[in-house]
Amino acid sequence: MAKIGIIICARYRNCGGGKCLRAIRERAGGFARYSREETVELVGYSSCGGCPGGNIEYVPEEMKKNGAEVIHLATGLVVGYPPCPRLGAFKELIEKKHGLKVAVGTHPIPLRYFTAHEGLSFWKRGEIAELAGDLMQESRERMAAYD
Ligand code: SF4
Repeated sequence: MAKIGIIICARYRNCGGGKCLRAIRERAGGFARYSREETVELVGYSSCGGCPGGNIEYVPEEMKKNGAEVIHLATGLVVGYPPCPRLGAFKELIEKKHGLKVAVGTHPIPLRYFTAHEGLSFWKRGEIAELAGDLMQESRERMAAYD
C-alpha cells in the first residue's frame, strides 16, 4: 500500500484532477513507479497556494498526518508556461522539512505539450529534465493518450 498526496500548481487551481486520477489507475507518468498489484491511496490533494508557493510549508505536514509517504508534485508544474521556477526548492523543502519522499510528476505529459516544450533550451535540459525523469521517459503513445 502506498499513501500519496498530490500538490498542483495554483495557476490550475480549478483543475478537477481527472488526468491525475486516471494516471493513478493506469500506473502511468509519475505513478509508473507503483506496481499494479500495489494499492495506491490518495490521502491529500491541494495546490501550492499560488506563487511563491507558501502552502508547501504547511500542506505536506497535513498530508503526512493523514498517512502520506510520498508527495507528487503535479505535472502542471513541469509543463505550465513558464514551468514552476521553484520545483527544486519545493522538493528539497518537502524532503528535508517534512521528511517525505517527493516524486515530480503525476499524469503523463500530453504529447502536444511535450512537442511544444522539448525544443525549449531551458526545459528539456537541466534541472527540469533531471527532476521530472519519470515523465520524460514516458512513451510517446502514452503521452498522446493524455492529449
Ligand atoms: S508556478 Fe510554482 S509557485 Fe507559482 S503557482 Fe505554480 S506551482 Fe505555485
